Amino acid sequence: MAVATLTGCGVATASPNADDPVPAEPTMIDYVDPSLVTGLSTRTLSTGDSGSRHVHAVYPSLADAPRLTEKLRRTVTGHLARFAPGRTPPEPGAELNVDWQLAAVSAEAVGVRLRVGRSAGADWRESRTTIWYDRVDRRAMDSADLLKDRAALEMLARRVRAELAGRSSTVNPDVVRPDREMFDSIGFNPRGDLVVEFDDRQVSPRTAGRLAVAVPSAEARPLLSAAGERARRAAVRTTEPPAAASPQEALLAASAARPPARSTRAGSVDCAKLKCVALTYDDGPGPETGRLLDILGRFGARATFFSVGSNASAHPELLVRMRDEGHLVANHTWSHRDLTALSSARISDQLTRAQQSITQSIGQVPTLMRPPYGSADGHVASLAARLGMSVVHWSVDSRDRRTSDPREIVERVVGQTRPGAIVLMHDVYGATVDAAPEILRRLGEEGYIFVTVPELYGSREMQPGVTYDAGPGRPPGE
Ligand code: ZN
Repeated sequence: MAVATLTGCGVATASPNADDPVPAEPTMIDYVDPSLVTGLSTRTLSTGDSGSRHVHAVYPSLADAPRLTEKLRRTVTGHLARFAPGRTPPEPGAELNVDWQLAAVSAEAVGVRLRVGRSAGADWRESRTTIWYDRVDRRAMDSADLLKDRAALEMLARRVRAELAGRSSTVNPDVVRPDREMFDSIGFNPRGDLVVEFDDRQVSPRTAGRLAVAVPSAEARPLLSAAGERARRAAVRTTEPPAAASPQEALLAASAARPPARSTRAGSVDCAKLKCVALTYDDGPGPETGRLLDILGRFGARATFFSVGSNASAHPELLVRMRDEGHLVANHTWSHRDLTALSSARISDQLTRAQQSITQSIGQVPTLMRPPYGSADGHVASLAARLGMSVVHWSVDSRDRRTSDPREIVERVVGQTRPGAIVLMHDVYGATVDAAPEILRRLGEEGYIFVTVPELYGSREMQPGVTYDAGPGRPPGE
């Protein structure tokens, strides 16, 4: 296989030549755009948006690597179990959030980095785990398996301790022991240098944020197993990537020429005269979404999809289908954090990154957002306003997360729907999709028309920053 292994001298401290490009921070990993990876899907484990527990975890699945998917599933469910062991409910406001990135993808190896954040009170901490899949041996591995043996792990630990000893006095290098848990997040930068990441407060009690150490490839390569070398090669870039614009710059550039998102059939129904309902589906797109789109299409029904940005980036083809089939794509943030727990900068980042990934997929800019867990305040609304989005809650809660029985979902939705209702559902649950045909049949028999959220308001434009939880609802004769 013709894979270039040229990595340069690998010494980050080489004296810069005036003509050289500015070297990248050596611990930065160049994550792979998931929309470019064939056979990729995502799995979501969550408490839905209306529960009192705030748990949202997403991990990728690869069609040709079931062992990788299984290892990721076990890792994520382990975090969920530790977050709320047994029957003990987490304290109010506690949140668990798992998102993912692709650390490397090649014909030989795949690396998936999971970022696990959890809060207890005001204290937010993140841990990082990188799981690797070797496509040659068809083996899912911990990061430590990239090293060839115990001696290599000890050598790496010594090397990392030496590097950390030169850092600030809050870092304690002595806690870096050669154990697999400590070295559970190993990746490579685009030059092929090895990058070790630590969890918040793992080597430094007082500081949070990502702490990482890069080991130049010339020193790292002798420590790697055969699978480790394949993983390293998977991360090496042989050509320079185009200069990346910041998400905000990219969004401005993308939005400038792009129209606002709108159903292709908006204006075809007059909700002042007819009984309208807006079905909304959150947290996807995911493996069940295509089946839901088939069902909606059979009934000629339209819906609003509040997509999670990281899922949207993995499923651009599903967003294109939504747009082309008359649905509306809206913003449900990048990784489904409780926004009221975040700083302004992070709220903007959550909204902007999702906005960017959706806009890139469908060529239209979302005008609606739904805050994860329905958790928003005036501050969140003002930031949504700045990005041109209305805030949408719901009037009917399907409580679809709490049941695997589609009949319960059908009864709850059909029983509570009134003209102008906004119905909360999630297209990541099989039972929700199983319930869809019966919901559409029964509400259809009652005379309901299934529209996207803005159509409930007719010619009255929804206003950015304003919160909506149901349409004006003026059914004939009521
Ligand atoms: Zn949600």
